[in-house]
Amino acid sequence: MVKIYIGESPVDAHIVCGLLNTDHIDCEVRGDALFSIQGEVPFDDSTAPYIWLNEPSQYVKAKRIIKEFVTHKTRHKADWHCIQCGELNEGNFVICWQCGEPYTPNSVT
Ligand SMILES: [Zn+2]
Repeated sequence: MVKIYIGESPVDAHIVCGLLNTDHIDCEVRGDALFSIQGEVPFDDSTAPYIWLNEPSQYVKAKRIIKEFVTHKTRHKADWHCIQCGELNEGNFVICWQCGEPYTPNSVT
């Protein structure tokens, strides 16, 4: 198993893990249970929600997807239409709030 991503929150980690699963990358989130006791223990790497890659040969592909996700998350601010259901989403959403379809560059109006 290879540690590939540290989520800002359990939700963030699960979104990224879901994106990877969509591309048939075998990964899982660990540490999100510990996240709930934050405040009682010092926040450090041991309490952050990690994504673990089960298949090391998928590392490069997974990293590329994560890089795209992070780039989008930090730069994209324009509203976008979901390619799946057509719903208008605010720019800070990375997945459609209506149907859960991930944002893609083709979604921009
Ligand atoms: Zn949608």
